[in-house]
Amino acid sequence: MLVGHQPPEFLLAVEALTVSFDGFKAVNDLSFYVEENEIRVIIGPNGAGKTTVLDLICGKTKATSGSIQFRGKELTKLKENEIVHAGVGRKFQTPSIFDDLTVFENLEISYPRGRTVFGSLMFKRDAAVRERVQEVAEMIFLKDRLDMFASFLSHGQKQWLEIGMLLIQDPELLMLDEPVAGMSVSERVKTAELLNTIIKDRSVLVIEHDMKFVEDIAHKVTVLHQGQILSEGSMEKVQNDPKVIEVYLGH
Ligand code: ADP
Ligand code: MG
Repeated sequence: MLVGHQPPEFLLAVEALTVSFDGFKAVNDLSFYVEENEIRVIIGPNGAGKTTVLDLICGKTKATSGSIQFRGKELTKLKENEIVHAGVGRKFQTPSIFDDLTVFENLEISYPRGRTVFGSLMFKRDAAVRERVQEVAEMIFLKDRLDMFASFLSHGQKQWLEIGMLLIQDPELLMLDEPVAGMSVSERVKTAELLNTIIKDRSVLVIEHDMKFVEDIAHKVTVLHQGQILSEGSMEKVQNDPKVIEVYLGH
């Protein structure tokens, strides 16, 4: 084999993934591959199985069959906390931030524990945590809001805070389920900017309906329908695919 001509290394390889709920296959023999530093968007009609795919990857739902390879680890065999530890962060549709804590505190409590490199030097850890909180707060447009209680944030800012709480754990794969739902146009633009920044160090898997937002972020789009891939490729390709127009975009 020629050096430099190896097949691409995938961060995530989903193969023949199936989950059956009482005989109903919500995800049916699904295969797709996400590269390093890629933003992949999953679109498709309601009930297509999009959220279930994220549930399977993060271990919330157990696969009936098939495989999910992430950095050489088989995620279908791991528990939810082991999958987080392996480097997969997942944001749910409703934010799970702590309203009665400040922005700073929300980020601080999300900082990974048990990093023994600091040993007993707690002050060193504290400095590292503060630095990382500042860094993440800047990325999520909340550096001027660190002392504000999370309950006073706008809907969009709450969504960013929750993304920040995942980013502080430095996941290699970040999964977001409809992150811009309910956001203003300017918040959507900033969220796209945020995602385009953070993929320097990771890949992102996003479920989204807002096609303008999808266009702003997607490297590649996977269209799901009835638990299977209807179409996959560039935004332009899937937008012009008659099958996609028929079952999704035409409505
Ligand atoms: P999407 O996110 O694309 O709208 P979902 O993944 O939420 O779709 O759901 C896909 C299908 O699987 C739906 O028909 C839904 O009712 C069904 N489903 C999802 N989770 C479960 C579950 N835990 N038990 C039974 N059916 C489920
Ligand atoms: Mg869903």
